[in-house]
Order: sequence, then structure tokens, then C-alpha cells
Amino acid sequence: MAAYTVTKVRKELSADRTHRHIEGVCTTAGMHYTRAQVVASIDAGNTWRTSADGYEATIAKITFCPVGACMATPYIKTNPDSTRKDNLENLDPC
Ligand SMILES: [Zn+2]
Repeated sequence: MAAYTVTKVRKELSADRTHRHIEGVCTTAGMHYTRAQVVASIDAGNTWRTSADGYEATIAKITFCPVGACMATPYIKTNPDSTRKDNLENLDPC
């Protein structure tokens, strides 16, 4: 099994154009992966973690984007209530 370290996220405008949510992530190796690719990899038993500014967290899958009634699926999170970079949503853009 492999371990991936995510340092940045890529966001996109939601389908209803009310917010920007995670489209995918970028790893230390400079590779970009979509949310679906990350979730498929987690399901296959691989480990995905974030590392940025001294904060680390484990990425988990969730069914939908947590904003309102957003239907973007699958979605990924770390510590969604954190205001620091242990929250996947707060990583720098890639
Ligand atoms: Zn959303």
C-alpha cells in the first residue's frame, strides 16, 4: 500500500455557483489527483495525509460536499472545523 502526502488543493466553482469547493489535491510529488481518484485510492487501502505549515491530518472520504445542499460527490475532508492548515479546505491552491 502506498502513502500520499498532500500539500495543496485545487478548488472549483460549485454547480450552483454559490461557493468554491475542492476539485482535487496536489501531492509532494507535484501530481494532481481528483477527489474521485483520492477516494478510489483510499478505498484500495492507501493512506492520504496532508502536511502544510507544520500541520498534518489524515484525509477521509465523505459522500457530499458539506456546504448547504451541494451534491458534489464523492468529497474529502480532514478536520473541517479547523481554521488552520490541518483542514484540507485551508491548504494553499495548486
Ligand atoms: Zn460544494
